[in-house]
Amino acid sequence: MIEVAVNGVSGRMGARISALVVEDPELKLVAALERPGHQSIGKDVGSVSGGGETGIKITMAMNTHADVLIDFSSPESAIAIAEYCARKNIALVIGTTGLNAQQHEKIQHLSGQIACLISPNMSVGVNTLFNLVAQASKMVGKEFDIEIIETHHRFKKDAPSGTALRLAEKICEATDREMDKDVIYGRNGITGDRPTNQIGIHAVRSGDVIGDHTVIFGSLGERIEITHKAHTRDSFVRGAIRAAKFIAKKPPGMYSMSDVLQIQA
Ligand code: NAD
Repeated sequence: MIEVAVNGVSGRMGARISALVVEDPELKLVAALERPGHQSIGKDVGSVSGGGETGIKITMAMNTHADVLIDFSSPESAIAIAEYCARKNIALVIGTTGLNAQQHEKIQHLSGQIACLISPNMSVGVNTLFNLVAQASKMVGKEFDIEIIETHHRFKKDAPSGTALRLAEKICEATDREMDKDVIYGRNGITGDRPTNQIGIHAVRSGDVIGDHTVIFGSLGERIEITHKAHTRDSFVRGAIRAAKFIAKKPPGMYSMSDVLQIQA
């Protein structure tokens, strides 16, 4: 039995993760964490996940050991919990997005002590999309303009989405472009002709959209659009649970969703 802790347990993702952990015969929920002052503190985790009583109360701090912790909270909280996991030898899955370069470096550093997996998107579909887009960008060459459009619900805190940024990174790796030099975030004003190498990223915020990503490869006379649409958060939740099972007993190091899902380019 793998013992699991969840950080950010009362959030949209955390609540579903705790529900599926409780249902999974290979997993045991041992801790459910929320930020200080949250109204769910002290309540049974079943009160946020929609299930019945679990016997696990929502707390502000860990008071037991776990094999693996799953984090869907905020960048600051992800870093704080990562430092705790490294001290207590708990493997870590981070789904939180919006971490800055320094925070990513911190996770990289802590992966010298514990098994870590950080991914802006845990779904099989989006991890397949990463590979498809990398291949397509190599195949079309510099003839085609590449633009990324993402749409998310009105409550999303960071923009552009971590998934859109990872798509741009994949295209840059595949085509010798550079994130710092070639990626722009929206357009405004007299922009002039579009530079050949440019990758435009555009963030739409609308209602309750769970997460749509489209990459457009456009040339003169034709275009290709590759789109992924998440219908339910459970696609991410199931991926996060697979990731937790995968790294729970692994030695220290950085692991990826490609390792978990065994998606080959
Ligand atoms: P949310 O706002 O609904 O939930 C976040 C939860 O974290 C809230 O309950 C909040 O109170 C809690 N939290 C904040 N600070 C905390 C702290 N210090 N300690 C403990 N808990 C704390 O957000 P969400 O939609 O569940 O998304 C959470 C994160 O996951 C976001 O960064 C989002 O972009 C990301 N996300 C990633 C994936 C993926 O597949 N990797 C999928 C969906 C969302």
